[in-house]
Amino acid sequence: MKIYRNINSLRKHIHRLKQQNQTIGFVPTMGALHEGHLSLLRKSRRENDVTILSVYVNPTQFGPNEDFTSYPRPEKKDIFLAKKENVDIIFYPSDKTMYSEEHCSFISVAVLSDRLCGRSRPGHFQGVATIVAKLLHLVSPDRLYLGQKDAQQATIVKRMILDLNFDVKIRVCPIIREKDGLALSSRNVYLNEVQRQEAPILYAALKKAKLAVKSGETNATNILEKIREIILTRTSGTVDYVACVDQTTLEPIQKITQSSLIVLAVYFGKTRLIDNIIVHPK
Ligand code: AMP
Repeated sequence: MKIYRNINSLRKHIHRLKQQNQTIGFVPTMGALHEGHLSLLRKSRRENDVTILSVYVNPTQFGPNEDFTSYPRPEKKDIFLAKKENVDIIFYPSDKTMYSEEHCSFISVAVLSDRLCGRSRPGHFQGVATIVAKLLHLVSPDRLYLGQKDAQQATIVKRMILDLNFDVKIRVCPIIREKDGLALSSRNVYLNEVQRQEAPILYAALKKAKLAVKSGETNATNILEKIREIILTRTSGTVDYVACVDQTTLEPIQKITQSSLIVLAVYFGKTRLIDNIIVHPK
């Protein structure tokens, strides 16, 4: 496994791979790898000759009062896990490598970025779109692997790829969960014992909603109210949002007549957890 920290050496290697007609799968992450990330790496390994992982805690997607400095960075463990998964290349850039002091170009995917998480995290998706675009230029993969866990992010990146004609196929992979249903996240380590016990209720509420839709409930307001009630009565969390939206436009849906996305964000103390589920009407 090769570890590159600078752009030129990564580019040289990728140039060689392209000359050999090797297909490249790319998994961008912020590290603190868990089974969710590993599932993307495994899928990429199955579908490509070469798998490239990037580990970069991207400062431009964090707000001023967010957890950029405290975000976990267990480099040795990440390298160990990547090796175990037979990753071919890790790209591990520094902030200086990714953003010069003069950097002033950003990509903004309008409208989609202002919805849902974008409301409480202004600028977040501009940071995400910019770093993903930069990484796609550097890696020029055949396939890009993202998790359904970050549903809005996947929607925005898909939009950007279409709008800006990136020559890459996008694969959105299922959410990997703990046994008790909590979606794996690098931020779960921030939860205290009580919060950790309560957090699986988010998925329990989403599953209940899915069942209600499957049984014939089409009124989104009723469903969302029920989810809120479950979270508010059974956890100490505060709801940032719970919404039922179109999977492509992220526009709110009132009557569920086609497969739709129910998304939520809940604060447990300062820790913000997100989760979602796709619901299918009867
Ligand atoms: P992150 O390191 O949190 O930026 O995530 C890197 C990639 O892993 C993103 O595409 C995430 O959607 C994906 N991911 C994170 N958590 C999970 C999970 N529990 N299941 C599947 N994919 C995940």
